[in-house]
Amino acid sequence: MRLLLINPRFPESFWSSKWALAEVLPNKRTTNPPLGLATLAALCPPHWEVQIVDENIEPIPLEPQADIVGVCGMGVQFSRQQELLAYYRSRGHYVVAGGSYASLCPEQYTSHADTVAAGECEYIWKEFCRDFEHGSPKPLYHETGMVDLTDSPTPRFDLLELERYSYVSLQFSRGCPFRCEFCDIIVMFGRKPRVKSLEQVGRELDELRRLKVHSAFFVDDNLIGNLPVAKKLLAFLKEYQDKHSYKFNFGTEASLNMAQHKDLLQLFREAHFGWVFIGIESTDPASLRETRKTQNLHEDILTSVRRIYSYGIDVMAGFIIGFDHDTTETFEQQYRFITEAGIMVPMIGLLTALPKTPLYDRLRREGRLTTLEDAHDNTRPGTNVIPMSMPYEAMVDGYIALYKRLLTDREIARRIRNKLRFLSAPTYRGGYSTRQGLGIFWRLVLRGIIPGGPRRIWHFLRTLPWLEPSQLPTVAADWIGALSMKEFADRRVTVEPTEQGSLERRVNSVRSAIDRYVAAGNVTLKLRRTSAPDLAVCLKGKLDGPFFKRAAPGLERLLKDTRASVTLRVDALQTQQFDHFQGLLRRLARYGDRVHIVVDERLRALVPIDSSVFNLVFARRVD
Ligand code: SF4
Repeated sequence: MRLLLINPRFPESFWSSKWALAEVLPNKRTTNPPLGLATLAALCPPHWEVQIVDENIEPIPLEPQADIVGVCGMGVQFSRQQELLAYYRSRGHYVVAGGSYASLCPEQYTSHADTVAAGECEYIWKEFCRDFEHGSPKPLYHETGMVDLTDSPTPRFDLLELERYSYVSLQFSRGCPFRCEFCDIIVMFGRKPRVKSLEQVGRELDELRRLKVHSAFFVDDNLIGNLPVAKKLLAFLKEYQDKHSYKFNFGTEASLNMAQHKDLLQLFREAHFGWVFIGIESTDPASLRETRKTQNLHEDILTSVRRIYSYGIDVMAGFIIGFDHDTTETFEQQYRFITEAGIMVPMIGLLTALPKTPLYDRLRREGRLTTLEDAHDNTRPGTNVIPMSMPYEAMVDGYIALYKRLLTDREIARRIRNKLRFLSAPTYRGGYSTRQGLGIFWRLVLRGIIPGGPRRIWHFLRTLPWLEPSQLPTVAADWIGALSMKEFADRRVTVEPTEQGSLERRVNSVRSAIDRYVAAGNVTLKLRRTSAPDLAVCLKGKLDGPFFKRAAPGLERLLKDTRASVTLRVDALQTQQFDHFQGLLRRLARYGDRVHIVVDERLRALVPIDSSVFNLVFARRVD
């Protein structure tokens, strides 16, 4: 039996760190590998042949040798997941949908997949494999109970190209004891944290050590959900590293109440945790109470963050704006806190109601949900929630202005300095050798700092820890993280709405560069004005090398200077033009998430298109 498991391409977001991955970090394509698929692979019968393809690092196979194609997905991947399920199904494969969104909303997949696997997979996947071998797979396998995590196998890390990821994910627990109103994790995994045994964790670390992994991310919903057990895990991790003389750099997600336990913080440090992601959400006690995030109310949040810093642990944090108590004043409060605390990677989102959460149910009852499609990515200027204490437009404008303010060179430098005053020497050094580290630093300076001009160079110099060189990797990582956020925000969040005139000019410049081909009917251009404008370019007749040379700069400028996307539909392409077409794609690759390529089946086989870079569209018609 041959099984192909696919992790669909994520739409670009703050989490993608695209600039850092493309310009500074060697050989990395994305942040985390698909741990769920590696776990699923380990649950298959030993005689099954399993392949994992992550579309975030490599193109999907168009003609796979597979009896079953499984496509997983989170909410943000839903639309690509649907496209892939439809494509593979149309080619005669048996398709299975799974992942966190299928677990939350299995009913949304019934028309897209032959089988839907909903919920934790440890038991239901084995049942599916048995049924499939007997020729009687069911349309739905729904885990409604809770899996005992000691039944979870060591994931098939060996099926993943681990060197292409910034971190390798592993998991110790599922579930979280808290009750945040917006959270879908407790809907899926419950409020009683369940854990793997320490022996299981040891086996997973053995495997990662064998694969020479150094940076590992515990993707637990809340690593300290069960405090006594978390302490045992941390002590075990320290002992494990000492015993094997092997240095993993760990990171994780945990709740802010970790700051209340100094012994826990010390254990985190000794186990080599260099960073933690914390949902701070708001500094306003009224908003925290409203959303039932009472674990953040133990003390002044700034004090908590600085105490975590004092153990050498960096803090990344999530913030939410749009609670019922939030007003336009909230933006100033969030700005002040983020700046004083020196949070370098502030993931700020507008309050978003995810299906099946208590928040969703409440707002639906109150008639405060909009029908915004794709309300899954909460780090973009839009949401499906109608705010209570400020107009929607003011909230979106305030959100954009906040990011603009936080991502100036001066503010980036100020936050780094504010953090360094409280961050004691971290144990974290990144998973790079000294040589690689120097290369990263050099590329940061060359491609990130110098292009920012004298002002950025000045602010950069002011953040260098001249008296404490051990802080240098932290400063470099902070600039890389901040410039990556800035690059994305400049293109997708804080960008001024495309002025009609500027868009027209860019389109006209593309048109005039290739007017002779348009006049001959070999190319058509059509600007479609939706909320995000799209220039549809259809190649339909005889073209030559000069055409591609003339078209490329204009299309590149259009993507660079506006928010428009480009749809390239290739109806005809002569063999001798394949190289020129690839040259055009290379020029547009940087904006690949806004380039949709539609080619028919014959051309798809002849002209390889990297679906991890561009949106490869399977539909035959563009309009
Ligand atoms: S602390 Fe995090 S995981 Fe736990 S309920 Fe709140 S948002 Fe969900």
